[in-house]
Amino acid sequence: MGGSARPPAFYQESRMFNEAVCSKMKKPGTIKPVVIVSKCLGFDHCRYDGQIIPDDFVDKLNPYVEFKPVCAELEIGLGVPRDPVRIVSTDGALKLIQPATGRDLTDRMCSFVSSFLDSIKRVDGFILKSRSPSCSIRDAKIYSGAEEDTPIAKGGGFFGGAALRKFPHLAVEDERRLKNLKIRARFLEKLFGCFEPFKLWESLSKEY
Ligand code: SF4
Repeated sequence: MGGSARPPAFYQESRMFNEAVCSKMKKPGTIKPVVIVSKCLGFDHCRYDGQIIPDDFVDKLNPYVEFKPVCAELEIGLGVPRDPVRIVSTDGALKLIQPATGRDLTDRMCSFVSSFLDSIKRVDGFILKSRSPSCSIRDAKIYSGAEEDTPIAKGGGFFGGAALRKFPHLAVEDERRLKNLKIRARFLEKLFGCFEPFKLWESLSKEY
């Protein structure tokens, strides 16, 4: 789609015009939405295997927002590299388990998540890592046991799922879904209101 002159029709149709936001945002950069982002999406080598995941959309969005990177697994004291964790469903309850060590990290993660989310003074959106048992908003694999190979379901991770439940009205997405242009447009629309949406659309969609 590279460098199209007009935003697609669905973008124009779905645009929510918000006069109040517009008047505040006449000078680009004077007000930046605050976006909490998974730290591994280009900010730190904090994946369990020491990797960082560069994300082109996050890079392009950077000048327009105030990113606040966070890694839930580092925050609960896990190091890099570390043994992976997974969500295990036991007797109807979801637990965060580290199969290689047998550690149950559920309480520690839940405690971090509630204190972190409760401490947020201002946030306008989230971009979280898909498929992560911590950060995913919808698509983390859920297993019936620590050693089982086949997942039985998918759902939100401990951090991402809680963020979505606490802030359902905000722009909350994962980096994988944001590759879909309709989802991206709705995310930007929610995040910025009418902050120069056409200009923003152009600059954030050039490679597609
Ligand atoms: S997905 Fe979340 S918890 Fe996992 S490395 Fe990335 S920021 Fe940390």
